[in-house]
Amino acid sequence: MRKILVSECLYGGRVVRYDGGEVPETHPTFLKWKEEGRLIPICPEVFGGLPTPRPDSQRVGDRVMSSEGPDVTEEYTKGAVEAVRLARENDVAFAIMKQDSPSCGSKFIYDGTFTDTKIPGQGLAVEMLREAGFKVFAEEDMDEAAAYLDQLQDD
Ligand code: SF4
Repeated sequence: MRKILVSECLYGGRVVRYDGGEVPETHPTFLKWKEEGRLIPICPEVFGGLPTPRPDSQRVGDRVMSSEGPDVTEEYTKGAVEAVRLARENDVAFAIMKQDSPSCGSKFIYDGTFTDTKIPGQGLAVEMLREAGFKVFAEEDMDEAAAYLDQLQDD
C-alpha cells in the first residue's frame, strides 16, 4: 500500500498550527486513507523546532521572517528537510499539504508584507519536496489526488 505524506494540521489529533487552531480535513477519501493507515503526518514547522502557538511567519525572498521580527529560515529549512526525509523513508506516492502556509502551501502563499495579501507561490517544505521529485496536492484537490493514486496503482 503506497503511503501519502500529509500536513499534520489536516490529519488532526495534535494541535500544531501557529494560531493554535485546528483544520482537520473531512473529505471522505482523506478519512478512508487515514483509516487504512496510509497517511504519514508531518508539521514541518514543529519538526523544525518551533513552538505552538507561534508568531505568524511569511516567506520574504529566500528567507522566512516572523511577524515579530526574527528570521526563522533555519527552523523552516530543518522542518522541510525532515518532510523530504519522511517522504523518502516511506516511499510516498505524493503529498497533500495545507494551502497558503509558508511551509505547506503548494499554489499560493502570503506575500511577505503581513498585509493579508496572497500571491502564487509555494511553501519551503513543498518547494523541497518538489525538488526531490514528489508531487504535491493542496487539500482542495482531493479528487485529483485520488485519481492520481488510482492511476499509480493501475500501472
Ligand atoms: S506547517 Fe504545515 S502542517 Fe504545520 S501547521 Fe502549518 S500548514 Fe499545518
